[in-house]
Parts: sequence; structure tokens; C-alpha cells
Amino acid sequence: MIADKKDNIAPKRENGQLKEELQIGFIGNPNSGKTTLFNAYTGARLKVANWPGVTVEKKQGAFKYHKHIYKLVDLPGIYSLTSYSIEEKVSRQYILSDDVDVIVDVADASNLEKNLYLALQLIEIGKPLVLALNMMDVVEERGMEIDTHRLHEMLAIPVIPVSARKKTGLDILMHAVSHSTDMDLKHKRIMVYSDPIEDKIEKLVQRLVAYDPAIYNPRFFAIKLLEQDKEIMETYPIDVSDIVDRSYETDIINEKYDFIEEIVEETLINKQEKEIFTDKVDSVLTHRIWGLPIFFAIMGLVFFLTFALGNGITGILEQWLEGLGSWTETVLKDLRVGPVITSLLVDGIIAGVGTIVTFLPNITILFLALAFLEDSGYMARISYVMNGLMSKVGLSGKAFIPMLLGFGCTVPAIMATRTLENQRDRIKTILITPFMSCSAKIPIYILLSGLFFGKFAPLAALSMYVIGLVTGLLTAYLVNKIEKGMDKKKDKGRGQELNQLLIELPEYKTPNAHSIFIYVWENVKAYLTKAGTTIFLASVVLWFILRFGTGGFVEDMSQSFGASIGRILVPVLGPAGLGFWQIGLSLIAGLAAKEVVVSSMGILFGIANVESALGLSAMQQSLAAIGFGALNAYSMMIFVLFYTPCVAALAVIGQELKSIKWTALVFAFQLVFAWLASILVYQIVGLFI
Ligand code: GDP
Ligand code: MG
Repeated sequence: MIADKKDNIAPKRENGQLKEELQIGFIGNPNSGKTTLFNAYTGARLKVANWPGVTVEKKQGAFKYHKHIYKLVDLPGIYSLTSYSIEEKVSRQYILSDDVDVIVDVADASNLEKNLYLALQLIEIGKPLVLALNMMDVVEERGMEIDTHRLHEMLAIPVIPVSARKKTGLDILMHAVSHSTDMDLKHKRIMVYSDPIEDKIEKLVQRLVAYDPAIYNPRFFAIKLLEQDKEIMETYPIDVSDIVDRSYETDIINEKYDFIEEIVEETLINKQEKEIFTDKVDSVLTHRIWGLPIFFAIMGLVFFLTFALGNGITGILEQWLEGLGSWTETVLKDLRVGPVITSLLVDGIIAGVGTIVTFLPNITILFLALAFLEDSGYMARISYVMNGLMSKVGLSGKAFIPMLLGFGCTVPAIMATRTLENQRDRIKTILITPFMSCSAKIPIYILLSGLFFGKFAPLAALSMYVIGLVTGLLTAYLVNKIEKGMDKKKDKGRGQELNQLLIELPEYKTPNAHSIFIYVWENVKAYLTKAGTTIFLASVVLWFILRFGTGGFVEDMSQSFGASIGRILVPVLGPAGLGFWQIGLSLIAGLAAKEVVVSSMGILFGIANVESALGLSAMQQSLAAIGFGALNAYSMMIFVLFYTPCVAALAVIGQELKSIKWTALVFAFQLVFAWLASILVYQIVGLFI
């Protein structure tokens, strides 16, 4: 139920005199000093009840001012006039109702920017309104000054500096209130939006007036319709789908903030230096147009450092480990140690440690970069800049970081989900990040598309990236839909998202070396202790599966348990066109690391150098001989795209989800998804060939 639609703001006069009783509503952000101000006027004379139908406190009090009875109502603290929370609903209903004669917006003047957002919305309602600039004592103490005359000029409402605590300005405030009863803001255009928005508002105003000629302030309701406010849409059930093609809520919020910036610029004198600096930086970094490209550039740099630099260091470490491996091998040979122990040490343990080490430079550099973003204050802005885009698929703005890093390597990408505060967001992001093709899959795409797709090879490889990305976003979207369906209170999540936009952003500061060190060390330690041990164990298990068979230790992988599993998998992988034991075994070996798929195929098909032109044509002949063609190759690429990236990725997923059950479920999800997707591709495309 929304307020009466009739014009109700005519001044209440009796016999030419102002009404004896005036009802005044105190509204403002939480902690702006409403209650303190209320108490300053009414003392102990207050009544506490609940607002009709809800358990939100309703405080009312009265006092005499120049022979008149003034009734005060202390409204719940709110940031905006949407209908997402009970507090907002209660306050809005009361303000729109006939009961209130004058609204007093109690604003924390020491935090003008944040508090003016509500003021702009109240002005749009068009009722008698007075801005009480509270906490002026704080403003003075900080050496700040506010040009109240200019503020009054820009907002067209009385602006009265007060201090509820020091009890200054109280009389002037009431004086302004008593003279505001016949104020009419409806026909003043205080806040003008951009042309496309104003255009829509005007069209909506016409519709609203046609629907209800007696409508009070159609502009306010037009703006609310543009924001797709549920309550207002129910109050005015007119078809405006041709005008309101989407919710313009974020646009309207942003434009209001642009205007607030202008106001603050002109009225706030002697801002604190830090704030000035932050505002300057933010006017660039969170700029409506430049914010995104700058963000992408920063993320590009993070990506470059994490992978280009990280992989360089990894390369050196790998050479080291290789040296250690061959040195161990010769030493063991000299000591006449048997091949089993040698293989365990070299191919099992040293290679297992190698796998852990492989990711270490990436992870260290990534967390160094994230620590910089976090500690400087930029991380909080990422949500702000990216929320608009990412929320379309139900992801938070920061989910962009793991998704982007996923194209490099899933392991640091999954670890980057730590920057997400919300648990649900984290799980969703962890679920879809592996769909971003990691760089280790490139050799497989290149080999298979090169072998079978001729001049279309680049297109075939590129399609993997597109399919992975689209599937990931689609999955997030669907999971979000299901989640919302389960939540029932559909608007709650949305309200939170928007409230996030209204949250104050922290000030920028120079990152602190100590907190950066702690941040990096904590995360690297977590990787080494939790994921590292799992990676190590899994590597040894894989070594065992690939090096042992029913006859004990085997040099030849085709005699191993892995090969037996590969043979068992033949009927399972058959419908996907992958029913060959060599392929099954290569895919199992690929769990160690995706690069291994290509080398395993080389070994299993007896080809010495897969990368050389000679090796390639030999591979093609071998594959053709077993009836493996272009469609099979594409199906295999799809399978590789979707199934578990590697044991290290799985270990990190386990570490982040902190649940064996959930990790097992994710593992099963990846396998089944890859299996079904490759079957789908093989069968459907097969129909047309
Ligand atoms: P409400 O949430 O809007 O009702 O805010 P309160 O009236 O509860 O005030 C929040 C805090 O601000 C309390 O600690 C008050 O003492 C303090 N406060 C309120 N008005 C003033 C003021 O004018 N000056 C100063 N320094 N503090 C104030
Ligand atoms: Mg209060």
C-alpha cells in the first residue's frame, strides 16, 4: 500500500491561521543524530509503539513551540527510499502519507556526501522539507566549513546547521519548519538527469497523469517506475514496458552521486587532505566511463605479473628440479638401487614436489598483487566498478578476478576467490572458474585442432575459450536463479547489492609493507600446508597407477593399472567418440597436469616427438588407424575443456571449500559435465555429418 494519490500537501490552515498541530517527521541515515535531536526537543515526553504491522520501533513525542503543538516522529534510519527493507518501507509509507506536514532530513554534516543521497530522494518526493545539518560541532572541530547558502541555493530547501549534542540551532530549525508548511517542491527541477533518462521520465509522467489525473507529484512516481520499484509498479499497474525496458536504478543512483559530487565540490570548504586525495583518485578510478578500462588495465597487469613473471621463475625452478632428478637418478644408479625405488623417488616424489613448486611463483606473485590492491583501497572499488556487469549473471564484481586468472591457471585463480566476502559467491565462482580454459590446455587444443581442422584449426581452438566462458556464465546464471527460487525473499539479495553501491568506500592509502607480507605469507602458507600435501599425495597415487600393473612395477605405461582403467572406460567414453583405451589413459594421466595428455598420447601411440611435423603426421596416421577423426578430436577437446583441470586444482578447491563431500561433488560434477557435453557434441554433430 502506498500513500493516497490525491494532492495532500496543501498547507493546513484553520481560520487563516496555521494549524494548531503540526506533525514533523525526522528522517535520516542511521547514526545521523535523529534520536538525539528528537530528545533535545521533546525531553522525556515520548511515546514508543510499533509501526502498524511491523516490529519496528515508532517513537512519537510532542512539545509546544510558540503556542503551537508540534508532534515529532522519529523514523528508522535509512540510506534510500526503495522498498527493499522494512525500515525503508515504513519510512517511505509514512512520508508519502497525509499524516506528515513537514519532513526534517537529519544529515550528518561531517559526512555530507553520504548523507546527501537521501536528501536528493526526499526532494524528489516534493513535500515540505528542511535539511538539518547536524553534527556541526564535529565539522567545526575538524576545521571544515560548509557554505550553507550555496547548499540552500543548489537544493532549494532551507538548510539549517545544528548540533543535537550541543543543542545549538534548535530554535532556528523549528522556525524554518514552521514556515515550510506550504513549500512546494513539486514544480522545481532540482536534480536534472541525463537526457535519455529525463526523456523517459517525461513519457512516464504523461502516462501517470493519464492514468490518474489527480496524481500527486508524478515525477517522483515516474522515477520510481524507472527504477522498477515493485510497490509503485503495483500501485500504478500501467503498461510502461515500451519505456522501461530494464531497471534504471543503478543509472539513477550514479547520476545522483554525480550531482552530489558537484554539490560537495561547491559547498564543502577545507575538506580533510586525505579525503581530497581519495576523491581525486576516485574521480578517475571509479569514473563512469574510465573506471572500467582502468580496471581492465590493472587486471591485465596482475595477470601479466602472475603468469608471465611467475612462469619465468617457475621455469628456472623446474630446470633446477629436473637437474635434481637426473642427479638423483645417476647417484641411485651408481648405488645400484633398483628401478622401482628410483622411479618412486624421481618420478613420484621429486615430480610431486615439482608440481607443488610449479604453482608457487604464480601464487606468491598473485597474492602480492592482491595485497597491494586490498591494502591500497582499490579492491573495494572493484565491486563498485564491476558489479553492474557481473550482477547480470548473479556474480559479485570481484568474481571477475578469479575468472580472468582462470585463463592462466586454475590453481591461483581458485585461491583468488578468497577476496570474495560472501560464501555463496565464493562457491559459485569456484564452480565456474575451472571452465575458463587454463594455459595448460593450449597444447591439447593445438595438437588436436592442428591434426584435424586444417585452416580452421585456430577457430576450433578459439571455440573452446568461447564455449568455456559462455558455459561458466550460464552456469552462474542458472545457479543464481535456483538460489533465488530457494530464497523466496527475492528482493533481499538485490537490495543488498544496491546497498553495496551505497557503502562508503575506504580512503586510499600507501600499502603497508608489514600487512602485505602477512597477507602473502598467510596465503602461501595455506597453499603449501593444505593444498601442497594433497597435491603431493595425489601425485604419488597417480605415479603408482601409471607405473604399476597387475605384474608389479612396469616401465611401459600401457601395462599399468591406468591402462586397465582406460580399458574399462572404453564403453563409458564410447558414446562421446572417445572409446579408446589410449585416450582414456591419456585423460587419466592428464589429471596430473594437462600438459601430460599430449605427451601421454605420444607415448601410447609410439610417437617419439609429437611436436615435430614428422611426429604429427605419424600421430594422425595412428589415430586414423583406430578410427579417430575430426569429430572425435573435437569431442575430446570439449571433454578436456570441462573435466577437472588437474589434481592441484582439485586440491585447492578442497582447501577452499573445506569439505571433502563438496569437493567430491565438484569433482563428480566436472567429470559428468565433461562426459555429457562431449557426448552431446559427438552425437548431435554426428547427425549432420
Ligand atoms: P540516530 O541513529 O540517527 O538516531 O542517531 P543518534 O541520535 O542515536 O546519534 C548517533 C550518535 O551520534 C550518538 O553517539 C550521538 O551522541 C551522536 N550525535 C548525535 N548528534 C550529534 C551532534 O550534533 N554532535 C556530535 N558530536 N555527536 C552527535
Ligand atoms: Mg535513532
